[in-house]
Amino acid sequence: MTKIGLEIHCQLTKLESKLFCSCKADYRNLSPNSNICPVCIGLPGSLPILNKKAVEKATMISLALGCKIPEQISFFRKNYFYPDLPKGFQITQYNAYGPTSIGSDGVVQIEEKKIRIRRIQLEEDPGRLVYEGSSEKTQITLVDYNRAGAPLVEIVTEPDFENPKQVRIFLNVLADLVENLGVSDPYLEGAMRVDGNISVEKANRVEIKNVGSFRDIEKALHFEITRQQSLVERNIPVVAETRHWDEARKITVSSRSKEEEQDYRYLPEADIPIIQIAQNKIAALKENMPESIIAKKERYAQKYGIPPQVADVLSSDKFYSDLFENAHTDTNAKEIANIITTDLMGFADTREKKLDLKITPKHISDLADAILNGTITRNSGKIALQEMVKTGKSLSDVKSSLDLGNVSDVSSLEKIIDEVFKEEEKAVLEAKQNPDTVNYIVGKVMKKTKGKASPGTTLELIRKRLLSS
Ligand SMILES: [Zn+2]
Repeated sequence: MTKIGLEIHCQLTKLESKLFCSCKADYRNLSPNSNICPVCIGLPGSLPILNKKAVEKATMISLALGCKIPEQISFFRKNYFYPDLPKGFQITQYNAYGPTSIGSDGVVQIEEKKIRIRRIQLEEDPGRLVYEGSSEKTQITLVDYNRAGAPLVEIVTEPDFENPKQVRIFLNVLADLVENLGVSDPYLEGAMRVDGNISVEKANRVEIKNVGSFRDIEKALHFEITRQQSLVERNIPVVAETRHWDEARKITVSSRSKEEEQDYRYLPEADIPIIQIAQNKIAALKENMPESIIAKKERYAQKYGIPPQVADVLSSDKFYSDLFENAHTDTNAKEIANIITTDLMGFADTREKKLDLKITPKHISDLADAILNGTITRNSGKIALQEMVKTGKSLSDVKSSLDLGNVSDVSSLEKIIDEVFKEEEKAVLEAKQNPDTVNYIVGKVMKKTKGKASPGTTLELIRKRLLSS
């Protein structure tokens, strides 16, 4: 059976400062090596001071993944030599003397499958190596330490995945979860990085590193399954090793034999004391955690009667569920959920488009109310929404500039119905005998008003007229 385990590195992008110094946690778009200080580049005599907020955010992730939080946490030095690591070691957590990392023994349910979380640890990000040209041919490698020391949470799963699809679902759930917690923006470049351990039946375990995106980890795992199976079939041993994902060629390539844990010579980080985690602090954190996606979904379905599938889509996306929360009232909640999931998500189907939306809760709320009280039809509403998100104009401005106002006042509608009754004598006669055919007449009225007649009022007026004539 194929066994896959994951190590996910998730940056705590919502923090102000790095894990052990006051340099900016947001290293993006800064000129190289400008976001550094003696602590994060490890100059002699500098002392790390643990970012308390980082411990809180990491604890929130642990709690949300059902992990146990230990009574005390400690830090270790993981020693290895690589140019992106200015100190020659990384400060991380290691369960050497019982669990002292920020979380352990969690579980996440994805569809029918339980994925166990082995450990969650807080650690610092290394710097970045920038290659001039392709990394294989270049003579020049540049080092940028702006990222060194950025706060990172590593989430290690048990090898519970049986196929790459389960991995993809899990990663999406995890990305939504950290976004919903407000601890990370998982869609920022490099904010969530995944290594995978994979072995097919009768094969040694291979670690895949350097995978840039969720889509690529799925591809890398598929590739690795095929590669390992074909080796096993030909009785060629699968070497236990680390392989890198070559994005350009869409294959994994052998990089070096895998380091064993003992090669890292973990040493207790003596510059950071053992930290006691007060149980009342955990209780307070738990109390103030944002509502979980699952709880949100249930509330949407139960309180507002939103269909489960719509509630699922809405609750998983923090941007849209926040918009929903700020826009809805008890009466228009269902309509708003409908507008967001069917129309708005359709216009903004990428992250970039979503961030470009000039939408406010008032836009959505006004539109839902207008649809519900019949002053705009759903069709016109969709056009109005498209214009509002593009321009940021109010509904009433958009309605008048695009002439989307409803023909809902009774006298103008009656005039149009008069015309239709004259033009469609045969259909009127038929509708009198067979009320089911009335839709044909409604359709004619709609056509004359270019879809701007309120369907409810139109139907009511036609029925009245059929009975009286
Ligand atoms: Zn620093």
